[in-house]
Amino acid sequence: MTHLLDPSHSLSDWLAQQKFPAYRAKQIRRWLYQGRAGSFEEMSDLPKALREQLSKDFTLWTTAVVQHQQSQDGTEKLLLELADGGRIECVLLREENRRTICISTQVGCAMGCVFCASGLDGVDRNLTTGEIIEQMLRLQRLLPEEERLSHIVVMGMGEPLANLDQLLPALDQASAEDGLGISARRITISTVGLPKAMDRLAELNCRYHLAVSLHAPNDALRDEIVPVNSNIGIKKILEAADRYFEVSGRRLTFEYVLLAGINDRPEHARELARLLKPRNALLNVIPYNPVAGLSYKTPSAKAISEFRNILLQANINVQFRQRKGDDIDAACGQLRRKSKKLHDIQPLN
Ligand code: SAH
Repeated sequence: MTHLLDPSHSLSDWLAQQKFPAYRAKQIRRWLYQGRAGSFEEMSDLPKALREQLSKDFTLWTTAVVQHQQSQDGTEKLLLELADGGRIECVLLREENRRTICISTQVGCAMGCVFCASGLDGVDRNLTTGEIIEQMLRLQRLLPEEERLSHIVVMGMGEPLANLDQLLPALDQASAEDGLGISARRITISTVGLPKAMDRLAELNCRYHLAVSLHAPNDALRDEIVPVNSNIGIKKILEAADRYFEVSGRRLTFEYVLLAGINDRPEHARELARLLKPRNALLNVIPYNPVAGLSYKTPSAKAISEFRNILLQANINVQFRQRKGDDIDAACGQLRRKSKKLHDIQPLN
């Protein structure tokens, strides 16, 4: 059966074949993206015959919600099981007026960042466009009717730039007026730093914000934390980021996960400041969210504040991100990891 959310098939062609009027396509889209329909039956202004035919030829959902966790701070996380049994995570974050979703692009991850739960077992496969859109719609359905999604961060499991071909059509639906209507300015793609793919993104579509996960101010340290770095190097990544900035005009974001005793020393902060000073960039420092089974730790409040002061004194535009959803394993791949150890979880739908 065809996945209705996969934009590679043409709903208009299907409607024509089935002898339904073309305007029904618009109505169906409206039900999906604005009406938050959970089933074909809910699309109440479609004729019954059309709804029945849709449910014969299409599936709306290809995933099942295996777990739904809610944090004290309003963060909600879904663990989804894909049709082939693979599992992915996606998150809804609430911050004042913002309703941000964090979505995955791959099952697992091949980048192997040593502190991250997503890549511990490597990558299984890329997600399809439909599976990426499905995460957005499932998270949107968690909001009350009067609230809308405002931001998307592609910071879930996987390396987005390793799956651009499936990701970009999904983001097209997110940013389309008759899709989720989320402005491209409010969509951020986060990458480990793959220069060729960053150039390709700049060429294909530079409307989105780009965030680069730096995590270290020099190659010796970065090679240790982010193993793919040894074939690339920080210089090439920064050059590609600068090119993206030139083409897009969008301020760059660099991410830096603070790991106690590893990349959190004052000299790291000074070296980082020198790298970022010439750039129009925002630095997002994220205290590490510990992963079960890994020995990395969050730095002490004192170390964090020292690190911060050095960057502030150097006039770096820095933001210390609050960790969200600690109590629900909201960091990248944590929940999936835990669920792999429990074999008896029953799908909820
Ligand atoms: N592969 C992409 C996007 C996914 S990871 C990338 O590397 O950017 C999104 C961000 O979350 C990255 O900056 C990543 O390093 C960070 N991250 C992963 N695990 C984390 C953890 N346990 N605590 C804090 N940040 C984490």
